[in-house]
Amino acid sequence: MNARMQTPDRREATPPWHALPAARALELADATLAGLSGEEATQRLAAHGPNVLPRQGGDGPLLLLWRQINSPLVWVLLGSAGLAIGLGKVTDGAVVLAVVVLNTLIGFVQEFRAGRAIEALSSMVPEQAMVLRDGRQQTVPVAELVPGDLVMLASGDRVPADGRLVAVKNLQVEEAALTGESVPVQKTLAPVAGDAALGDRTSLVFGGTLVTYGTGTAVVVATGQRSELGRISTLLKEAASLATPLTRALATIASYITIGILVLTAVIFAVGAVRLIGQGIPLFDALREMAIFAIALAVGAIPEGLPAIVTIALAIGVQRMAGRRAIIRKLPAAETLGSTSVICSDKTGTLTRNEMTAVAVWTPSGAVEIGGVGYAPQGAFRRGTETLAAPPAAVAELLRAAALCSDASLHQADGAWHIAGDPTEAALVVAAEKAGLGVEALRREWPRRDAIPFESENQFMATLHDRPGGGAQLLAKGAPEVLARRAVGIDEALLLAEVERLATAGMRVLAVASRDWSAPHGEVQLADVTALRLLGLVGMIDPPRPEAIEAVQRCHAAGITVKMITGDHAATARAIGQQLGLVTDQKALSGRDLEGLDDDGMRAAAASTNVFARVAPEHKLRLVKALQADGHIVAMTGDGVNDAPALKQSNIGIAMGITGSAVSKEAADIVLADDNFASIAAAVEEGRRVYDNLIKSLAFVLPTNLGLAGILMCAVFFFPFDAVTGQLLLPMAPTQLLWINLVGAVTLALPLAFEAREPDTMRRPPRDPQAPVLSRFVIVRTIVAAALMTAGAIGVFLWEHAREIAAGGAPQLALREAQTMAVCTVIAFQIFYLLNCRSLRDSLLNIGLFSNPAVFVGIGSLLLLQALFVYAPFMQAVFGTAPLGVRDLLVAVAAGAVILPVIAIEKRLGAPH
Ligand code: ATP
Repeated sequence: MNARMQTPDRREATPPWHALPAARALELADATLAGLSGEEATQRLAAHGPNVLPRQGGDGPLLLLWRQINSPLVWVLLGSAGLAIGLGKVTDGAVVLAVVVLNTLIGFVQEFRAGRAIEALSSMVPEQAMVLRDGRQQTVPVAELVPGDLVMLASGDRVPADGRLVAVKNLQVEEAALTGESVPVQKTLAPVAGDAALGDRTSLVFGGTLVTYGTGTAVVVATGQRSELGRISTLLKEAASLATPLTRALATIASYITIGILVLTAVIFAVGAVRLIGQGIPLFDALREMAIFAIALAVGAIPEGLPAIVTIALAIGVQRMAGRRAIIRKLPAAETLGSTSVICSDKTGTLTRNEMTAVAVWTPSGAVEIGGVGYAPQGAFRRGTETLAAPPAAVAELLRAAALCSDASLHQADGAWHIAGDPTEAALVVAAEKAGLGVEALRREWPRRDAIPFESENQFMATLHDRPGGGAQLLAKGAPEVLARRAVGIDEALLLAEVERLATAGMRVLAVASRDWSAPHGEVQLADVTALRLLGLVGMIDPPRPEAIEAVQRCHAAGITVKMITGDHAATARAIGQQLGLVTDQKALSGRDLEGLDDDGMRAAAASTNVFARVAPEHKLRLVKALQADGHIVAMTGDGVNDAPALKQSNIGIAMGITGSAVSKEAADIVLADDNFASIAAAVEEGRRVYDNLIKSLAFVLPTNLGLAGILMCAVFFFPFDAVTGQLLLPMAPTQLLWINLVGAVTLALPLAFEAREPDTMRRPPRDPQAPVLSRFVIVRTIVAAALMTAGAIGVFLWEHAREIAAGGAPQLALREAQTMAVCTVIAFQIFYLLNCRSLRDSLLNIGLFSNPAVFVGIGSLLLLQALFVYAPFMQAVFGTAPLGVRDLLVAVAAGAVILPVIAIEKRLGAPH
């Protein structure tokens, strides 16, 4: 190991990398322009540790717990418990405390787990860096970078570690993560002053910053915590925010309900107290009785469990989406997905496989069809490299130029051929190999002196090479119409007709051109790429992904429009669009067509066209805006560095996990782990499910709370006084009401969040994002169910009480039995109603009675608890219950079951939206 490398704890020994010439920096880092050997890199990794920054999680558990406790509701409840105990009602106070503790714990556990789950997702998108090791370019995980590594940077990359630049080409880096300055910095090779501020150290690149333009090579000088970013530890604190529009809407609803219930409680308190005093009960006793009562009512009827239910439903959704390869970066996307009405997708790699295979070559002297060899971006050849019969000289020249003007490389490992780099370029390199050109040897014979890397906005790439016999040659490859404009001596009409012919067959077509280079300097600028001699065209196929074709169909069934937005030629785009089932007619608009349109024209174009070709990032932005102006919820994919604005503007920005630039990932709400369109459709499906399940939970929780309030309200307002005790006849004692609240929320409401998706999830139109959460459906359902629950509980109570008294039973026992039956009726009602709520639209039998085991675990636990409540002597003492006979239980169950036919009829009458 090299003793000259700086050690972590002797920072004063760190050389001033920015002030040193590049050559000296290389020397000090014990590196060469050929890169490290794999062996050396392994040794350095052991010595320096992995290139990772310790991730500070979101808030710690204690803070989270405190946040749960520190809510107005909890303080009210705690105050109530204190008041109850102060008034001598220790049992009531203890039960209120139990409710508070349980609810807080559930909330805490859920939020904690949800936060952890969401944080864990970020590690599902592995970061890779391009390095030069063992003399060749390779991608390695960012964590394995070591000081001395030579990293290659290109626009869109995140700089993986701190490095001293040793080569640059128009390199611009946005260093906001470090300096807060969002204007990109132009990087150069020249050393800067030793005391230059971080933002002025233009000869260095810093880990965590983003390359916005150009290319560069840097020798790594500091990794992990020793990098500049690592020193400012606060930066990576990624608190997973759990707030979404829906949780906020529900929080508002919950607070209105709380206020409503508090008002109701005050009214009940006043009415009850007046009635008690009217009965001759002493003032203090009357107030005390009613105070306990009011507390129980407030605690029992306020839906404290709702926030936890929402959080867990979203967290489950996020996890399921991750399982289906869509990584949610921003939680609100999990629910917005459900209302997506348009998906704008890139073509290459998302709708197609990104396995480019050159199948046709055309030169001005004739066309050649070549056999296809397919390969995946990082995959292996599907067939061996077959050598073409000796190609005509013109074809050989064309393929040589195409291969030299490419960065992709081939290598053999594990008995198969692998490619590294851009699949479009790899197709060219493979074609050259198949023509027997020996690309590695070619690259040695024609050393590259300079290059203008491919940028989507230029649509071509150019390289400058020394010619074996002396002199130099400029080579270019790119979109045919772009190179045609920079070429001389061509019949443009003939050329473009040929392009059209190949593109109509669904091929991506690249033109290749060259020019003898006589300028003395060895640097090419954009302006130098003129007066080209056209060598010919290469046509390559990239078939649609079969699963994308199927996903497009599912989206269509779900009322979602799919639009393809591609940088490719219009004819290619149209052909692929047809194969994917996106278009039936011949319509495709190009970026040029869009340019002339005003905002209205753009809206019309966006609405009527599904295939857009030769689109530049700024067109994407305008398209999103036009679609949004028409009221659409737009999901938009993007991979390039310039796609960030469109991704941010769209309702759901989707980046590509494998091929996407770091810049696009940063701007996105979702990252696709497999770059596959099918994963977008899957995420939409999960989004719809999440929303359904939330509505189910709401439709379950609200009637229960309202019903409990209804039962007590009826009793206080209208019930007679007990002839013997002179007390109000209450269908439920305060502790019993709290019991229902305590056990019901946990065992019954949460399992709904695990409900499978409804059979028609992807057969109905997208949800209107403007529709209120408390829809007419939820409100009607709440009132119907609450009324039934109130009527059932009160009816059973009065019936049982009258029956017992008539049979000559002791009034106290009669009351206990009648109350126990009322509670059992409510519990039975809740169980039946829960089964009903498992589907908003379908009957229980259709969705499969046992399709959600969580529900039955919940019901089983509740029945067990309820048996204790009724039969365990200890519980009888605490809650004032009495054991019931089989007949009584059956009556309670029957009363609760009334909800089943009622909701079945309601579902038949009208499906909610
Ligand atoms: P999509 O938008 O469907 O994903 P894309 O992003 O691959 O397509 P671009 O990469 O912008 O589209 O490519 C646009 C055009 O630029 C291509 O049709 C091709 O003509 C040309 N092109 C693509 N890759 C290269 C390359 N490596 N070198 C030169 N030209 C290229």
